[in-house]
Amino acid sequence: MKAAPEAQARLLDIQKVDTQILSLNNERKNLPELAQLAQAKVEWNALGAATIANNTKISDTEIEVDKAEKDLNPVRQRLEKNQKRIDDGSLGSKELNAMIDEVENLKRRVATLEDEQLEVMERLESLNAERDKLAKQRAEMQSAIKALLARKDELVGVLDKKLAAAQAERVELTAAFPSDLLALYERIRDRAGGIGVGKLEGKRCSGCQLDQSPQAMDHYNSAPKDEVVRCESCDRILIR
Ligand SMILES: [Zn+2]
Repeated sequence: MKAAPEAQARLLDIQKVDTQILSLNNERKNLPELAQLAQAKVEWNALGAATIANNTKISDTEIEVDKAEKDLNPVRQRLEKNQKRIDDGSLGSKELNAMIDEVENLKRRVATLEDEQLEVMERLESLNAERDKLAKQRAEMQSAIKALLARKDELVGVLDKKLAAAQAERVELTAAFPSDLLALYERIRDRAGGIGVGKLEGKRCSGCQLDQSPQAMDHYNSAPKDEVVRCESCDRILIR
């Protein structure tokens, strides 16, 4: 391929701006804030699931608390009524004995039900404490995510500005540029890790950083200036 030496030399400027664009795109894609946001989303979802589970347990336990009270009321009322009959002295001795036995039974029953009620109320109390803790965690997380999003947007904004400037510079550099040379450079660049052109610095190709053999050097030096030569080590376009 033939190309004016000035066009060939300009490839090094195009390479420079392409390297910059590549690096800016990588930076944009790999912002630590993006990984942090993804992690925060996982934690936020887990927190949401924990909140729903906690709410369900609270509703169920509130029903248990109501039921414990409802179970207790008739037993207490009956105990009170029986105790009154014992106290008013209206019962015969046989009836009185039976009534005293029943009262003892009712007292034991009340004690058992009260223990159960206490247990369920304690459970409700700890579920409510967990609910408050989850609400606090959600609020904290929400403001952390908000700050993270703002930081991410700010960084992306800065990178986008740099990218736009680099792309504008590339448009300028490639305007009125030989399209076959540009296509060759881009093809090599895309298959060779983002670098399509090297400069011969002494005996070394800046594309692959390898010293060139005397035979290769002879070839580079003897080729006409408008001949597009390729590095014999890495096959990139070589600017002499
Ligand atoms: Zn090379």
